[in-house]
Amino acid sequence: MAALTPQRIKALDQNVVNKIAAGEIIVAPVNALKELIENSVDAGATSIEITIKDGGLKLLQITDNGSGINREDLPILCERFTTSKLKKFEDLEEMQTYGFRGEALASISMIAHLTVTTKTKDSNCAWRAVYADGKLAPPKPGQSPDPKPCAGRQGTQITVEDLFYNTPSRRRAFRSASEEYSKILDVVGRYAVHCNGVAFSCKKHGDTDVGVSTTSTASLVDRIRRIHGSAVANELIEFEVSNIPLAFTSKGMLSNANYHVKKTTLLLFINGRAVESTAIRKAIDATYSTFLPKGGHPFVYLSIEIEPKRVDVNVHPTKREVNFLHEDEIIEKIAAAIQEKLASVDTSRSYALTQ
Ligand code: ADP
Ligand code: MG
Repeated sequence: MAALTPQRIKALDQNVVNKIAAGEIIVAPVNALKELIENSVDAGATSIEITIKDGGLKLLQITDNGSGINREDLPILCERFTTSKLKKFEDLEEMQTYGFRGEALASISMIAHLTVTTKTKDSNCAWRAVYADGKLAPPKPGQSPDPKPCAGRQGTQITVEDLFYNTPSRRRAFRSASEEYSKILDVVGRYAVHCNGVAFSCKKHGDTDVGVSTTSTASLVDRIRRIHGSAVANELIEFEVSNIPLAFTSKGMLSNANYHVKKTTLLLFINGRAVESTAIRKAIDATYSTFLPKGGHPFVYLSIEIEPKRVDVNVHPTKREVNFLHEDEIIEKIAAAIQEKLASVDTSRSYALTQ
């Protein structure tokens, strides 16, 4: 047998490493937008306006009226692991806000053209900065990369253009802009339902009709009505359950036994972040199966707050799924409470009918 000569191992160029890492966090336009929405909510915004071109591949723009960013922080804003939300390792255990790894803006700047315009309440003008590969960049060749003063209102506007322009194979993998746009509307709709006191709007660039629009004063039921329609909004039951030993509280809105559709709608938030959970979805479907006709499924908005140190959000780079302690017990408690709620509404209804 011929002796095989091993190939030499070499380190990848840092620029390539950064692009690979960014591509794991930002898989599609919707992942970038979700991070940007979370940043706006973290900044205390009560108004979040989103404009989309080509399913977010050409343009993702988000304008908020939150705290703004200090001019002095702009040079490091898009460096990896720069954050205002985490100062020491122990803070990781107590993080309340959504993002905390200081990676979102860095990642976006690696794979798109990024412009930030921002004004704090104490600044007498807004500042505009352009970023490339984590650093301030000249807006046009030959210009200075320093942030430029400009007119603007308090808050932050983030403009992401030409996503994946420098990873053409990734860019080509997107077949349909409308598919990406519907994923975006789905995520904006979730936050629009969840975020009490925040007005959301999302539309295609140049369009007059909005895909999503809610006001900051709308109630939870009104927000569900705006996004999901009256048929479901008229059949909702409020829901709440908590448990001290398991360190969780949860509340939400459930459709009653009068309402059913072909597919379960589950709007799930854990500690303020929109996530997916197959286990919770299954438990909800199983609970409803005795109340709904065969093939019928419910609408459930469920917000769970768990002691932050019991939640691990770093299971997946896009933070889509999270792990938490005592998952089975917590899900069981929630399912039992839903069961009880549905049963009580069901009896009162059949009782009313027999009167
Ligand atoms: P993280 O959210 O994990 O801190 P990001 O890369 O998403 O990391 O953001 C980096 C920092 O930029 C944040 O910690 C915050 O201080 C600031 N920032 C980002 N977006 C906004 C915004 N819309 N309004 C105010 N500050 C923001
Ligand atoms: Mg963030």
